[in-house]
Amino acid sequence: MLPKDVMLTAQKEFVDWNKHGTSVMEISHRSPDYLEVAHQAEQDLRDLMDISDDYAVLFMHGGGRGQFAAVPMNILPQNATADYVLTGSWSKSALTEAQKFGKINVAANCHTENGLGSVLPQSQWQLSKDAAYVHYCPNETVDGIEFDFVPEVDKPLVADMSSCILSRDIDVSKFGVIYAGAQKNIGPSGLAIAIVRKDLLGKARENTPSIFDYSLQLKHESMFNTPPTYAWYLAGLVFKWLKKQGGVKAIEQTNIAKAELLYNFIDQNDFYQSKVETRYRSRMNVPFYLMDESLNTAFLSESKAQGLLALKGHRSVGGMRASIYNAMPLEGVQALVDFMQDFANKHG
Ligand SMILES: *Cc1c(COP(=O)(O)O)cnc(C)c1O
Repeated sequence: MLPKDVMLTAQKEFVDWNKHGTSVMEISHRSPDYLEVAHQAEQDLRDLMDISDDYAVLFMHGGGRGQFAAVPMNILPQNATADYVLTGSWSKSALTEAQKFGKINVAANCHTENGLGSVLPQSQWQLSKDAAYVHYCPNETVDGIEFDFVPEVDKPLVADMSSCILSRDIDVSKFGVIYAGAQKNIGPSGLAIAIVRKDLLGKARENTPSIFDYSLQLKHESMFNTPPTYAWYLAGLVFKWLKKQGGVKAIEQTNIAKAELLYNFIDQNDFYQSKVETRYRSRMNVPFYLMDESLNTAFLSESKAQGLLALKGHRSVGGMRASIYNAMPLEGVQALVDFMQDFANKHG
């Protein structure tokens, strides 16, 4: 979901933006008014994440998966190796895409601890000596596994933060590349943000499509071609909204409270279970299972009737999943917990 306030602002400005008599999506991306929107969004993101001038902030096409290809095209030289850490379905997809571009070493595979989803301890990773970079996914959206640490590696660290960007305080200077598809914590789909340390620029393969070339996009301020202007504008509204909430540190506290509310309920209720080790439970995506899975259909239809949407788990893992991104208020999680309690009473 997007923040209600942002949706209302967008609605109010939809046909007449800034007293222009047009929508923001109808004006040229090269007009001074749009450039102002674009620059302000970048600046607000830099403020929110405390991104230094050592990094380029790019607004790109093609979502998260576009970046699965853009990363190796830009920073994996021909015949070089990259290390990929697997923890779930998105890091696996990133690996599959990267394998099209070069030699990829699986430094760590998906891991369980006592049957619960987990992360292989870093001491057991098989990192290669000469990797061009180390890629991982700090929050596995489908599996609900989130790192509670930033890996310490002596190579550029690349992170797919599609489902956790802006949800918790991070030290950007520990990363070579951070990227994120926009549609989970930032704005509408289609847009991707890439935050690239500038010393990694200028190494793209010759056959890299121009729109995916980080250096070229930086040179053109992410406007080598027409960017997804309306998505960029909405992302800017979300950044402003987040600043108004007190920024990343403040929303992180809300996110902790939301996650605790839901996990505590699941743990204390023998009607439901989590299948992720406590330490690695995601604050953004909470997969859970009914002990009696024959009630899944009833759970989904009754929750939907209560206005609780999108609770069906990903088809690859089944069960349920509550995605509680930044825009989800604590009251939304409380409403889910109340429903789950009622459902357990009724069917237990
Ligand atoms: C959603 C998601 C993606 C894919 O994003 P698209 O914009 O659909 O390509 C990639 N990585 C993670 C972690 C995601 O959650």
